Amino acid sequence: MSHAPTPAETALPAHSRVLIVGSGPAGYTAAVYASRAMLEPVLIQGMQPGGQLTITTEVENWPGETEIQGPDLMVKMEAHAAAMGARIFIDTVTRLDLKARPFVAELDSGRRITADAVILATGAQARWLELESEEKFKGFGVSACATCDGFFYRNREVVVVGGGNTAVEEALFLTKFASKVTLVHRRDSLRAEKILQDRLFKNPKINVIWDHEVLEVQGDEQPLGVTCVRLRNLKTGTEQTVPADGVFVAIGHAPASELVAGQLELHHGGYVKVEPGSTRTSIPGVFAAGDLTDHIYRQAVTSAGMGCMAALDAERWLADHHMAGAPAPDEAEIPA
Ligand SMILES: Cc1cc2nc3c(=O)[nH]c(=O)nc-3n(C[C@H](O)[C@H](O)[C@H](O)COP(=O)(O)OP(=O)(O)OC[C@H]3O[C@@H](n4cnc5c(N)ncnc54)[C@H](O)[C@@H]3O)c2cc1C
Repeated sequence: MSHAPTPAETALPAHSRVLIVGSGPAGYTAAVYASRAMLEPVLIQGMQPGGQLTITTEVENWPGETEIQGPDLMVKMEAHAAAMGARIFIDTVTRLDLKARPFVAELDSGRRITADAVILATGAQARWLELESEEKFKGFGVSACATCDGFFYRNREVVVVGGGNTAVEEALFLTKFASKVTLVHRRDSLRAEKILQDRLFKNPKINVIWDHEVLEVQGDEQPLGVTCVRLRNLKTGTEQTVPADGVFVAIGHAPASELVAGQLELHHGGYVKVEPGSTRTSIPGVFAAGDLTDHIYRQAVTSAGMGCMAALDAERWLADHHMAGAPAPDEAEIPA
């Protein structure tokens, strides 16, 4: 993704009132709001500048844009945050000490920064099948988000891979668009809730292929696009090919919470827990936004909304602790 360097990138400050970790919709929105609150936030982009939307093509559900390429949207968000005054750095936080006050972040470059408040926006990554062919067709027929991409499969055939709640929900959702939905599952029963299973089995558009794994996604080169998936029966070893215009991998999401595991309260398999209706985590002064804390919606617009909330929550917290407009404190103890 193209990146407009800012002068601050060469000079990481020793301290920031607000440190934002992550450069997806949540991180950049938090940066816009924190900048406009004159908090001079520092944002560390991480390994994937722009976040998950940089690996997709058309985005059709970002308000104000009928259609925009994911990477282009993220370039615009970055430029917006920088224009408001956010200091954006290409680096990755490798260690975060949330027990210290101010908080301490160590970066991949060897640099170190302290912060009065931290906004965590490290997102989540869809779990993939880890096939070479899957990688090749990502964004060109292979997706991990039916809400995002289902619309592109009107009157077409799709395959959904997985057997949990997400897979069944994705399969049901896709029946709104697709002419046929084939659910491929490694086992002979689903892990999804019974009520969802019930809906699935009653839906005439859905066919389930049990005990099969995906060996390969196959397709055309020009234009790049999926035409079928090659499956193997795990009980008999026999192979079959199923026609498909799209493949939705729904085998789970992994929130990027490694940095804070053991420090913050997590739930639902690693998502950072926040107080309902806020972005406050179990440590005062640490806020979490976006997919990192959201196991339900996982959308760009909801992440951006939470990024806004996190900046407002951080601003209020800093003000309550007399740090909103104050110069950088030394290592003084800050009350919870
Ligand atoms: C293929 C695909 C298509 C999608 N299409 C759509 C769509 O059309 N519409 C829609 O609304 N949603 C879509 N989504 C979902 C959307 O991308 C996510 O909901 C959204 O990006 C989440 O935003 P986020 O800011 O929480 O995190 P992410 O976008 O996941 O960004 C996380 C950021 O954290 C950074 N990071 C991680 N660890 C560290 C670290 N240690 N130090 C510093 N930085 C770190 C990463 O570099 C990254 O910049 C799609 C997702 C995928 C995978």
